[in-house]
Amino acid sequence: MKRTIMILLLIGTTLVAFKNASDPPLRTSNPDKTYVLAIHGGAGTILRSNMTPEMEKAYKDALTLALQKGYEQIKNGKSSLDAVEQAIHVMEDSPLFNAGKGAVFTNDGKNELDASIMNGKTLEAGAVAGVTTIKNPISAARAVMEKSEHVMMVGKGAELFAKQAGIEIVDPSYFWTKMRWDALQKIKKEDSTKVQLDHDQKQSQRLGIVNKDSKFGTVGCVALDKNGNLAAGTSTGGMTNKKFGRVGDSPIIGAGTYANNATVAVSCTGWGEYYIRNVAAYTVSALMEYKQEPVKIASQIVIDNIGKMGGDGGLIALDKSGNLAMPFNTEGMYRGMVTADGQIEIYIYK
Ligand code: ASP
Repeated sequence: MKRTIMILLLIGTTLVAFKNASDPPLRTSNPDKTYVLAIHGGAGTILRSNMTPEMEKAYKDALTLALQKGYEQIKNGKSSLDAVEQAIHVMEDSPLFNAGKGAVFTNDGKNELDASIMNGKTLEAGAVAGVTTIKNPISAARAVMEKSEHVMMVGKGAELFAKQAGIEIVDPSYFWTKMRWDALQKIKKEDSTKVQLDHDQKQSQRLGIVNKDSKFGTVGCVALDKNGNLAAGTSTGGMTNKKFGRVGDSPIIGAGTYANNATVAVSCTGWGEYYIRNVAAYTVSALMEYKQEPVKIASQIVIDNIGKMGGDGGLIALDKSGNLAMPFNTEGMYRGMVTADGQIEIYIYK
């Protein structure tokens, strides 16, 4: 008897040790929990060694506030669309993220913002791209969805429409921040050195794109409300030094954002061209719908495919049962989630 107990104890200890040793890096949430809201604040070369305690606290505070605002909507019985819009507002109003106030600069020193939102219940969607005067592009995207017969509006037309819809308009100078301006100057300097390289070197340099840190930083949110309705939204300034007029994946339904009550709500962040070419957000849904893949596997397949093509970034995906996946292939991704009973979790690094 004593011997049996000893053996059982030994097996138990080994199993615990094995679990600790093989625990995967915390990229996804606890599979036993039901989540109702998740956000990301961009992926990139986010290393603990580059972060001061003050910066880390500032990011965590901003993510917490966004999660609280979004969760408040869900708790009060509001729609997942309201939760997505409110959570994204907080991040758009913070200079820390590459969306709204903290948007990055184009090659010619302007801020051109993109955003999209999708209703998983009706499959209605709205988006704006290349806007320069809309304080909260996510609200303009929602107005396109709810107050027009269109899905996507760009540039001056989108700005006029937003103004008529009563959405706050600001002077383009509102989006000027020193951090983003300095990032543009740095990348331009690095790019001018690259011109000296011969074609092959140029190609490899391009694939190893410099300073991903300051290139990325988009924000996104996925939510599941009390009526079982999913919604997803994404908002961005794009990528630092992008060519004037360039549009990334964030405002493209199916690439940067997708929501369908039958499957999942998805918001992506990363090197947009790869997300467009992989139809990333919709592919997560399609893998779930047509191949019955669970959200975690479907999301990982998409990120792996993007990685194989040379792209990087991550995504957040919340399924209709409250299972959450947050895979990324960069050093870090600002991310956070709330369970149905209001517990908040926040992660930054791998
Ligand atoms: N996906 C965005 C874009 O390419 C950038 C990002 O996620 O940070 O515009």
